[in-house]
Amino acid sequence: MTIGIMGAMPEEVDIIREQMTDIEETEHGSRKYYKGKINDTDVVLVFSRWGKVAASATATSLITEFKVDQLIFTGVAGAASPDLNIGDIVISSEAYQHDMDPRPLFPKHEVPLTGITFFKADDALIKKATAAAEDLLARPEAKIPTAALEKFSIRAPRCHLGVIASGDQFIADTERTEAILREQPKTLAVEMEGAAVAQVCHDYNIPFVVIRTISDRADHEAHVDFPAFIADIARHYSENVVRHMFSQP
Ligand code: SAH
Repeated sequence: MTIGIMGAMPEEVDIIREQMTDIEETEHGSRKYYKGKINDTDVVLVFSRWGKVAASATATSLITEFKVDQLIFTGVAGAASPDLNIGDIVISSEAYQHDMDPRPLFPKHEVPLTGITFFKADDALIKKATAAAEDLLARPEAKIPTAALEKFSIRAPRCHLGVIASGDQFIADTERTEAILREQPKTLAVEMEGAAVAQVCHDYNIPFVVIRTISDRADHEAHVDFPAFIADIARHYSENVVRHMFSQP
């Protein structure tokens, strides 16, 4: 069993790589893939790159070239639902493409020729990811400096299981976020890769889960402090969640 780990941020890939042993680096399709082990599990780690096409190409190589059997995808996302706060974690129950519109050939958001709008994540991976996220968020100050948590006003962060929307747009506009919510009210978070990877996993029958740290509210302030949030918070979240997922049999 080999597990593919995709990180949507190079900083998370760097910190997750520190947990790996027996690392072998391979360049393929303009990406660097790191084969190795975390504890006793074979893994292949890679930076997805940004946007649906880039992430799909990476996922396809992970599956066809590197023969992964399951895929875990970490990253950051904007909050679409007002219930979410910066520093919360969203685990995908399912993912869809908010910018897919093949009407009048197929219904809005349905991926042509699949009959699917929402690609479902794997129950066992969801369970593992949720346990890992809840373990971290129960006492984030045990793993992340208090000053960093205070800087981003992270108090009592929560883990949510729900719908992730992906599209080739960095959403930094409340009107766009509200439009997405009007069309698919169950949307919790917006990002640029998850649903594309979910579609590739569906084509190859590979179980997947998307795990995203909320970095912004998908409004006009979405880009503010982005690099600092990744450095101070998000990469540590990803490291701890992955560590926990691989520490359990
Ligand atoms: N670090 C880069 C920004 C990368 S943004 C920089 O500062 O130049 C792209 C990543 O953020 C993608 O992985 C995307 O999925 C995620 N993301 C976070 N918030 C988002 C939002 N509001 N809308 C869309 N994607 C978002």
